[in-house]
Amino acid sequence: MKIKYLLLILLAFTVCNLSAQTKRKKAAVSAAAVNSGPPRPKLVVGIVVDQMRWDYLYRYYDRYQSNGFKRLLNEGFTCENTQIDYIPTVTAAGHTCIYTGSVPSIHGIAGNDFIIQATGKSMYCTGDTTVKTVGSTSTAGEMSPRNLLTTTVTDELKLATNFRSKVIGIALKDRGGILPAGHAANAAYWFDDKSGNWITSTYYMSDLPQWVKDFNSRNLPEKYLKLDWNPLYPINTYVQSSPDNSSKYEGKFRGADSPTLPVKTSVLYKGNLGMIRSTPYGNTLTLDFAESAINAEQMSQHAVTDFLAVSLSSTDYVGHQFGVNAVETEDTYLRLDRDLANFFAYLDAKVGKGNYTVFLTADHGAAHNPAFLTDHNIPAGDWSERAALTGMNKMLEANYKVKNLVIGLGNYQVNLNYAVINKEKLNADAIKYDCIKYLQQQPAIAYAIDMQQVQTASIPEELKARIINGYNAERSGAIQIILKPGWFAGFAPTGTTHGTWNPYDSHIPLVFMGWGVKHGSLTRETHMTDIAPTVAALLHIQAPNGNIGKPIGEMLK
Ligand code: ZN
Ligand code: ZN
Repeated sequence: MKIKYLLLILLAFTVCNLSAQTKRKKAAVSAAAVNSGPPRPKLVVGIVVDQMRWDYLYRYYDRYQSNGFKRLLNEGFTCENTQIDYIPTVTAAGHTCIYTGSVPSIHGIAGNDFIIQATGKSMYCTGDTTVKTVGSTSTAGEMSPRNLLTTTVTDELKLATNFRSKVIGIALKDRGGILPAGHAANAAYWFDDKSGNWITSTYYMSDLPQWVKDFNSRNLPEKYLKLDWNPLYPINTYVQSSPDNSSKYEGKFRGADSPTLPVKTSVLYKGNLGMIRSTPYGNTLTLDFAESAINAEQMSQHAVTDFLAVSLSSTDYVGHQFGVNAVETEDTYLRLDRDLANFFAYLDAKVGKGNYTVFLTADHGAAHNPAFLTDHNIPAGDWSERAALTGMNKMLEANYKVKNLVIGLGNYQVNLNYAVINKEKLNADAIKYDCIKYLQQQPAIAYAIDMQQVQTASIPEELKARIINGYNAERSGAIQIILKPGWFAGFAPTGTTHGTWNPYDSHIPLVFMGWGVKHGSLTRETHMTDIAPTVAALLHIQAPNGNIGKPIGEMLK
């Protein structure tokens, strides 16, 4: 008995002593970080505006207020000629490139969806069936960054500070929140249509933090939808857009009579809270949630730099539905301008002007609607991917007596059915050659290129580089299809899309503002891959481990 008591006392003493030691150690660490660490901002906020063309900085300039987009340009540093150096120019690849300084060939995010070439199975960029949804009963949370093969600049910040920095990713789209936040993030949150909640996955945590539950219980999506989407200004003053009722070019909401403002979201949403995605309120909700995250997680209040990666997805949903030349798109950017102004004012008050660094960029741009262009005598068109797939498989069946030798044409690539080709002992090179011959006869197609022979193809060097950068041998198709300028593979005659190499898809805005950033602008070409190494240089941390970009030295103070 006595020995037991003695042991207990000894144990208690050891625990007390250990905890005192830990406390002393912690205090010493934070003092060192404050006194002798390299100069860094308290907070970095990365803002990706989904589908924002570079020219939107200027297209609606007249009606931007002084403290949103114009504040970025007037106080910050704008890289006016920032290009995406790979195809396909889609959301997942874009967000990944921005935060990794890398390209699909290396970082592995070869599309929003891609086909694992060895198995023929389709993979969603952030799909992960080994994890569960946290915050809803839906499956929308079965997501993680596990398909991403490299580190992000947010991971590197974690590594540089021995994981003391807080990193959070936020976006309506799962991929817009998860991929920028990287592997080592504290959390990524995205929107669940079923519950109207911000959710996450068991990759990050087993239960939502109380502040997220509190935010969700405010039912903001429903409150916003009940406000209806009214135009900010009289409709005839939207001089940068087609007349409002351009139903030939614009898609309407389900249940609506026409693609026009105001949208009676209060009537149309009928319990579908996911409708908020396709309205400007989706961006407002995202920034509301971002502010709550900064408050509750005390981001910027730590001894080391914190990083919030926010992506604004509604611009993409609105863009897809209404196109580049629509009143709805114009109104969405004018509202985003106001939301950004409020967000910057919040950051000034909370973190302090000059204590944080913001950058704003986009994951890709968007094309004009082909019918709209041809109505104005500009060459364009809508290529039917489905018809090409059917036709190609018919041709191959006639040649090889085997059905469905091509699985799909996603990401403008021919994905061959290698499982069947191997089983039937067919010649894959001969099949590839037949596909290329078939595709080159299609009037929409400029080039069809064997991914293994890009260097010897008779195409401009700029295209070669973008094809090679975008080609991940395990996850990309065997043939790259390049459409003629103005053409895209759409699935609806209205609205727009993106995914090609052309300037409308690949020329993005890039503006830095705040701590460590000079005021100015740059016209030389910069690249999406330069963003992560520039942020790394600003923070005096390593660039991500697949980075191929270069820091934009001109903007650093
Ligand atoms: Zn996107
Ligand atoms: Zn899109």
